[in-house]
Amino acid sequence: MPDLTPLRKLSAKLGKNLDLVQAGGGNTSLKADDTLWVKASGKWLARAMHEEMFLPVRQADILRCMEGDEEYVEEYTTSSGETLRPSVETSMHAVLPHRVVVHVHSVRAIAWAIRTDMPAALSDRLAGLRWEWIPYIHPGLVLGKKIRERLSSKPDVLILGNHGLVVAAGDCDSAEALLEEVERRLECPVRAPQPADLDGLAEVVPAGYRIAPDAEVHALALDSFSVDVAARGTFYPDQCVYVGPAVAILDGTRSFVAKFGVLPKVLLAPGKGVLVADDLNRAGREVLISLKRVIERLDPAIAVRALEAADVSRLINWEAEKYRIALASRYENPER
Ligand SMILES: [Zn+2]
Repeated sequence: MPDLTPLRKLSAKLGKNLDLVQAGGGNTSLKADDTLWVKASGKWLARAMHEEMFLPVRQADILRCMEGDEEYVEEYTTSSGETLRPSVETSMHAVLPHRVVVHVHSVRAIAWAIRTDMPAALSDRLAGLRWEWIPYIHPGLVLGKKIRERLSSKPDVLILGNHGLVVAAGDCDSAEALLEEVERRLECPVRAPQPADLDGLAEVVPAGYRIAPDAEVHALALDSFSVDVAARGTFYPDQCVYVGPAVAILDGTRSFVAKFGVLPKVLLAPGKGVLVADDLNRAGREVLISLKRVIERLDPAIAVRALEAADVSRLINWEAEKYRIALASRYENPER
């Protein structure tokens, strides 16, 4: 068995950085001999030093499943007796030839990856790196296959449209250095928020909701550009998985329910702040923070693309995601 300590240390470090990883999102892997050690689905990278979460998957088995167009859904029992499945993105990790692969939901990358002027918009910033643009495609097997089609340029960096970022390298230190370099190049000015009106917000809280406990997310409701973008729908997979298909505007709950068939988990009170459903869990709170950090980096002059309704319903009804959500509830209060 290879020494997984460097992978676990790197994973825990990335997992504690909300700009890169929220809740059980993101995944890392290391290849040794014929085995891919890949993060288990639903596990929080932040806990990588405390929990067993890397599963030994035979590389050949994953590639054979891909040939047959099947998701790899084998279950593994850890030495502590927990039954786990490999990450839904296992095929992505398997097709990349690098020894170490890191996939994160970087808010800096997503703020670019939802723009309609991609990939041209990044050609200057990423010049000199070997990178590829992968337009949005459903996560899992189909994403892995799409990535495999784009490997002829030997990319070390993938910008995943409406999804996130992948970096790959020969060892953990190189992967971390590459991630830092890409993050540095993707940084954009952050729009300063207007002040929240918490007294006004307290007067409009409907039953079943509360004032958002993470103060920074109020920025989503405090200028008309942020409200317009946030209310448009889902911009990346974990958003609809953990926060619902869109955020709603206060007083728009009825039309939201008519459109989506569920109650909103997040209500924007324009000019005042943000309300969240009483049952919005830790994972939802972290993903909502990421949405705020994406939107504050957008340039109002550049159009952005939300996911299509069909993409969103495919994500919400995806069996693999239901499994991941069920596991997320086991980790309500991990230390970060
Ligand atoms: Zn992802």
